[in-house]
Amino acid sequence: MTTVNGGISFWYAGTGIPVPREPLPGDGDADVVIVGGGYTGLWTAYYLKKAAPFLRITVLEARFCGYGASGRNGGWLYNGIAGRDRYARLHGHDAAVALQRAMNDTVGEVVAVAAREGIDADIHQGGVLEVACSPAQLARLKAYHEAETAFGEKDRVLLGAAESARRVRVAGTVGGTWTPHGARVHPVKLVQGLAAAVERLGVTLHESTPVTEIRPRHAVTPYGTVRAPYILRCTEGFTASLRGQRRTWLPMNSSMIATEPLPPEVWATIGWDGAETLGDMAHAYMYAQRTADGRIALGGRGVPYRFGSRTDSDGRTSAATVAALREILVRLFPATAGAAIDHAWSGVLGVPRDWCASVQLDRTTGLGWAGGYVGSGVATSNLAARTLCDLVRLDSGQGQRTALTGLPWVGHRVRRWEPEPFRWAGVHGLYAAYRAADRRERAARSTRTDVLARWADRLAGRH
Ligand SMILES: Cc1cc2nc3c(=O)[nH]c(=O)nc-3n(C[C@H](O)[C@H](O)[C@H](O)COP(=O)(O)OP(=O)(O)OC[C@H]3O[C@@H](n4cnc5c(N)ncnc54)[C@H](O)[C@@H]3O)c2cc1C
Repeated sequence: MTTVNGGISFWYAGTGIPVPREPLPGDGDADVVIVGGGYTGLWTAYYLKKAAPFLRITVLEARFCGYGASGRNGGWLYNGIAGRDRYARLHGHDAAVALQRAMNDTVGEVVAVAAREGIDADIHQGGVLEVACSPAQLARLKAYHEAETAFGEKDRVLLGAAESARRVRVAGTVGGTWTPHGARVHPVKLVQGLAAAVERLGVTLHESTPVTEIRPRHAVTPYGTVRAPYILRCTEGFTASLRGQRRTWLPMNSSMIATEPLPPEVWATIGWDGAETLGDMAHAYMYAQRTADGRIALGGRGVPYRFGSRTDSDGRTSAATVAALREILVRLFPATAGAAIDHAWSGVLGVPRDWCASVQLDRTTGLGWAGGYVGSGVATSNLAARTLCDLVRLDSGQGQRTALTGLPWVGHRVRRWEPEPFRWAGVHGLYAAYRAADRRERAARSTRTDVLARWADRLAGRH
């Protein structure tokens, strides 16, 4: 059996690639223009329209809603947020705890809205299980567990090797940590359900409509310009393709594979009855889910970045990446050695220079944005959207300051990425170091994080 490579992602295999909605017919006006029809853009449209049904909201999407990471991700709806520790250093521990609490609530918010709007996205609230497979990973896992507990997650539990294996039998597990703040989702069912929900509310969606330039009060496309007091950029990993944004957020690749549906005897060996989202503590970490139709979908880094901030072609990934992900799958689950890989694909994340997600509305220009979630945007995009909504309402005199507008990621600015070829060389060097550190840690059996990884973390500006 051959592996389908690309086709946007496995998540479209059941329904096929959607026929795009009508493009922008010509120049127009709106109260709010949202550029990008992924989770961020659609959640923003949803909350704005719910709060103020009279608003004329137009979403402009280059391809179709869910074309980007929102239609390609690992389906971890969980409470992680990129940058929390830096926000604690910049704004104090309590401010970061408030951000974390808001994230914890966000998982339930997405589940509740999906239920209310009749979005069946195969959601299963099994929590998040992260495992350690070497002594160095175990030391990091314990430190991570303590940090999460210090940020208020009192319901997180540390698991011994046997307890962890009772949830999922991952070969070589020496310990784990489990939190209830997570759910498995089908990414495309979520994004398409959301697009249908905002359309029902009266939001205008134009697909096949790339925005070539964003200026104050103008979103320019090949078919016309839409004028609005607020233009919100929700383009995450594609942001570099907009004029003036080439070095704003680095488009980092993440790639995934999905097995064929696994037979009952393989599941009997693996367990995973709770359908937890599953990850490990490697530097080049993997993330996985047990899909509703009984497959393993597993992701990891692969080729980290393409020269000049280029993105993939409709999700195609390299043969070497597919082989590397399969090697991880079989190492962690030897019972899958004979399983066919039905699908492989990739997508882009938005990575700011300091790896901190942020939300911003510039009150003088009316330009706003949200993103830079690195690898944690499925839930974070919902919190970001509710925050953008509150910022627009505050600025337009329709709303008050809220708990969300006071969170520490609001208005955060960061320097731009280095120009090429330094950007390309730096990111490739970084991930070569992470992969080497993972190999050395597996061989060394030491509890210390490898020096290469510590060096790479410093170079990356992550800590
Ligand atoms: C392989 C992979 C696995 C991931 N796994 C997880 C996970 O398990 N859990 C998690 O929390 N996060 C995960 N992420 C990250 C998460 O998917 C993203 O953070 C999230 O989907 C971002 O949503 P978004 O709407 O901001 O961006 P996107 O979904 O990328 O949407 C941006 C949209 O903007 C459109 N666009 C781009 N340029 C223009 C333009 N010029 N004009 C108009 N439209 C434009 C694009 O076509 C796209 O539809 C993963 C990402 C990838 C790639």
